[in-house]
Amino acid sequence: MLKVGLTGGIGSGKSTVAKVFRALGVPVYDSDSRAKQLMAGEPLRERITALLGGEAYKDGRLDTALIAGRVFTDRTLLDRLNGIVHPAVMEDFRDWAGRMRRRGYQYAVQENAIMFDHGFDRDMDLTITVSAPEQERAARAAARDGRNIADVMNRIANQITDSEREARADYVIRNGEDELIVPRIVSLHDKFLNHWQ
Ligand code: ATP
Repeated sequence: MLKVGLTGGIGSGKSTVAKVFRALGVPVYDSDSRAKQLMAGEPLRERITALLGGEAYKDGRLDTALIAGRVFTDRTLLDRLNGIVHPAVMEDFRDWAGRMRRRGYQYAVQENAIMFDHGFDRDMDLTITVSAPEQERAARAAARDGRNIADVMNRIANQITDSEREARADYVIRNGEDELIVPRIVSLHDKFLNHWQ
């Protein structure tokens, strides 16, 4: 079974692209939500509590605002937290991909915002990145999250750029306002289905 990594910057539209793959019947692993689930349960919970203290969990649930406040001002702490969470996500994905292969799927997609930044692409057979002009990405993410555009532009400036992702990806899906993503996704879908034939 082919493992396809799907990435893109904030507001690029990777979750929208993932939805289209799902609509085509392709299994999609959402790394972000799976990471949160894994962090909420054992064995990660014990290791994260040892790193960040008991206040990392509030009423039995992960306090994401508190964690973000602590790790984004302390690079070493962030690296340590990533060192706990990322290998757990990679292992969980391998188990999931094994189940999808046994169910007979020809390919499966992993959606991951930090695919290239943190080496998740090493477990993929090929990768897709979703690109869109920065202003459009910022406007979409700001509208979706009720934030201001300058805030989102700041976060974009701290990530790797679309051109860096494009240089590393096997395929690019352009999601600017004049581009149509569905025909592009359907054509990639056909390509991936025929991969083994
Ligand atoms: P993030 O990494 O910030 O979660 P993302 O890359 O997953 O973002 P989406 O959530 O898919 O991006 O898209 C961001 C917002 O832009 C969503 O509200 C989505 O509905 C909207 N959007 C995506 N593509 C387009 C498009 N081509 N035209 C207009 N709006 C779009």
